[in-house]
Amino acid sequence: MKGSSPYRIPLEGTTQGYWRVLAYKGCDGKKSWYQCQCSKCGTIKLVRGDKLRSGRSRQCASCGAIQRHEQSTAGAERQNPEN
Ligand SMILES: [Zn+2]
Repeated sequence: MKGSSPYRIPLEGTTQGYWRVLAYKGCDGKKSWYQCQCSKCGTIKLVRGDKLRSGRSRQCASCGAIQRHEQSTAGAERQNPEN
């Protein structure tokens, strides 16, 4: 009986909306997280895999600010090209 699927649909290297999925960053127990770059403005953020696949996240908060202005710096990330 399968509780959780060991399979993960690889999203890295694909484009979801305006997100360019750069890398798989791991799983927090439930959700997979991906490092994504907004192709509009270049912002790099961590985005949940299910949001990417469902299309609920298509771009960064700044570019998606049609809905509302949100300036929550949830994950201030340093962008080291090779870490
Ligand atoms: Zn953007």
